[in-house]
Amino acid sequence: MEQDRRSVRRRMVLGRTGLEVNRMGFGGIPIQRVPENEAVETVLHAVNCGIDFIDTARAYTTSERRIGLALQQTDKKVALASKSQVRTADGIRREIEASLENLQRDRLDLYQCHYVKDEADYAQVISPDGALQGLVRARQEGLIGHIGITSHSLDLIDRALDDELFDTVMICFSFLESAAENKIIPKALEKNIGVIAMKPFSGGVLAEARLCLKYVLSHPGILVIPGVESITLFDANWQVFQGSFQLSESEQQEIGDIRRQYDKAFCRRCDYCQPCSEEIPIQLILGMRYAIQRFGDAILQKEWMQSGIENARRCSECGECMERCPYELPIPDMIRRNLRWLDEDYQSG
Ligand code: SF4
Ligand code: SF4
Repeated sequence: MEQDRRSVRRRMVLGRTGLEVNRMGFGGIPIQRVPENEAVETVLHAVNCGIDFIDTARAYTTSERRIGLALQQTDKKVALASKSQVRTADGIRREIEASLENLQRDRLDLYQCHYVKDEADYAQVISPDGALQGLVRARQEGLIGHIGITSHSLDLIDRALDDELFDTVMICFSFLESAAENKIIPKALEKNIGVIAMKPFSGGVLAEARLCLKYVLSHPGILVIPGVESITLFDANWQVFQGSFQLSESEQQEIGDIRRQYDKAFCRRCDYCQPCSEEIPIQLILGMRYAIQRFGDAILQKEWMQSGIENARRCSECGECMERCPYELPIPDMIRRNLRWLDEDYQSG
């Protein structure tokens, strides 16, 4: 009986998409950083265990191709989602075609406008020749099933929920980054818009699968997509998914302790600190240490990372960003510490 109740709770319908899936899916970022055979084995293992929703992106280099290779080796039914940062109708059409080819499918279940930064970016997406139009046409042609949007900005997601132009929203959600729980998640669920939670480990800051996943899963009706690159890491997550999602008192206490530890040391990616007169991508620089630890040199080679670091070296310590940060983070100090780590520990080590 108890087991029945849990299994009901482990399944969900992703809002108006009608996709019925397990509440834990598979995030496609980390499989880029291991040899191809390991990546394919990990995806295949996850699917054989019961994963039936996989999210990837055009931006995740080899990820789509590797997922496609893994899915060629199984008959299991898996809902597939990908996404693109291209903002024009014609451009995103080409992106969909590339995703279909990589993933070896005729149709994807969900295609998302990836990483929509702010209102100006959103205006481009929904403009007459924007990406949304391209996605609507692709849906009419049957190339994709549903349309979603992903963003780090909850203000932007809130706007998208008001407009009701998207079937799903993907948000950052973890116990260090929990602002969505009071407004965004209830609003989306009320409108029957699917909620996909990314970064349950706060972008690599946290490592404890039990606390991180239970926290997200204890919020009913949302889909979490932890990314892993090995069978061992997947099994640790899957084991948590098989248990109860109820946080015990001692686990809640552990979460409280960790929250206090990171209170003035963790960037929640809200971008309220912008604009910076030196054009420093503050959230990128504050999170770069974890990103580099997870993705290694590949991420350091990206043009946007290099220019971000270059700009960060010009921080004048004017303090304007600090006045705007709702979490009162000591931003210039954090920038300095991260650059010092990069120069003295990472690059020289
Ligand atoms: S303190 Fe540095 S990061 Fe903050 S606004 Fe000034 S220049 Fe930009
Ligand atoms: S530094 Fe503060 S305001 Fe800027 S993105 Fe991070 S949490 Fe938000």
